[in-house]
Amino acid sequence: MSNVIHSASCCDDVPEAVTLTVDKARQRIIDTVHPITSCEKLTLRNALNRVLAEDIISPMDVPGHTNSAMDGYALSGDDLPQSGEQIYQIIGKSFAGAPFSGRCKAGQCVRIMTGAVMPEGTDTVIMQEHIETTGPDGVRIADGHRREQNVRQAGEDITAGSTVLQTSHKLTPADLGILSSLGIGEVRVYRRPRVAFFSTGDELRSIGEPLAEGDVYDSNRYSLYGMLKRLDVEVLDMGVVRDNENELRKAFSEAAAMADVVITSGGVSVGEADYIKPILEQTGEINFWKIAMKPGRPLTQGRIGNSLFFGLPGNPVAVMVTFYQFVQPALNYLASGRKSLPMTIMATSTGNIFKRPGRYEFQRGILEQSADGQLTVRKTGQQGSGVLTSMSLANCFILLPEDCDGVSSGETVQVQPFSTFI
Ligand code: AMP
Ligand code: MG
Repeated sequence: MSNVIHSASCCDDVPEAVTLTVDKARQRIIDTVHPITSCEKLTLRNALNRVLAEDIISPMDVPGHTNSAMDGYALSGDDLPQSGEQIYQIIGKSFAGAPFSGRCKAGQCVRIMTGAVMPEGTDTVIMQEHIETTGPDGVRIADGHRREQNVRQAGEDITAGSTVLQTSHKLTPADLGILSSLGIGEVRVYRRPRVAFFSTGDELRSIGEPLAEGDVYDSNRYSLYGMLKRLDVEVLDMGVVRDNENELRKAFSEAAAMADVVITSGGVSVGEADYIKPILEQTGEINFWKIAMKPGRPLTQGRIGNSLFFGLPGNPVAVMVTFYQFVQPALNYLASGRKSLPMTIMATSTGNIFKRPGRYEFQRGILEQSADGQLTVRKTGQQGSGVLTSMSLANCFILLPEDCDGVSSGETVQVQPFSTFI
């Protein structure tokens, strides 16, 4: 008896257990993922792209002091000319890192530089371009200024005691800047997911090996490596495994012992050398194995022990499509506990796109912005699931949902820019 995971939504619906829609498949995968809970402490530079395992509470105001946003002259807003002009005496200078220590009274101003602390008695800065010098110690200022202009208030960016960054947030370059501005040098982050992957197929050769008739170089391991590297997970490349049940079974258990996620490519169809599904049934649990999509229909997903398993198709484009649509959202959820979908935008198709209703198609497209700001998209040409150049030429997927029966030139389509996968 095979060990099939049934969710409540599929028990009474036999066809669905065999072929799922893209959305349902994505949901059912996420339902089986348990986000990582173990964590480690890292210094800031090492924490880029890592997921916070703690809320960051600000120990201080940012800016710490009210300071000038411009080079100019600081004075009191009460003392601004109401109409006409007024002459002020310059009583000193305030630099960033060297504040003016005196007090500014009516009729006086302080020469001030960007970032310098506002002197006592001042709350307003006049840009130096807006004054007229009357001598070494005097400036003339006209009316039309506003109290507190050109001044950055203490705590206007971050208030002491507020939550600056929340648990599960993935750290960006801006976040490293914020953390350092608070004097925080170390943060607690979740452990990175460990992902083991191997290619399957007797025809696969590694770079440097001679190709006999019908052999192909293994490309899936390289595109998978690239996609995983960008996600900043720990990668364990296990090479090529032959279409041999014993070798595959051994590779399955080795991979599952090392990794949170195991990814294979090839051997998931119904050919005589397609062993992935039966082996997963024997050694783990199958969640489902067909999705109404193109490319990528035969996808075997499930678990081996505590590891999440993805048996991706063999065709190189199908590998990339199924990775971006299913594996990446699952990895993101595993790493952060946050559910995310790639962003989609609308663009006008500049050509006809043939499609039959039934399967969700991910065609490869080139998204462009015309001079007037309009987004247009066109296909990259041949769309076969083995045509990897279609992925290389493309910068987006053109999304053609199950019921779509083709697109005419000038119609609007939904696209997923590749840049949102990073
Ligand atoms: P399969 O799903 O194993 O029947 O493979 C489908 C197609 O993808 C076949 O033409 C395979 O030769 C090709 N293929 C499978 N794995 C790879 C790989 N790692 N690199 C390049 N092509 C592959
Ligand atoms: Mg094969």
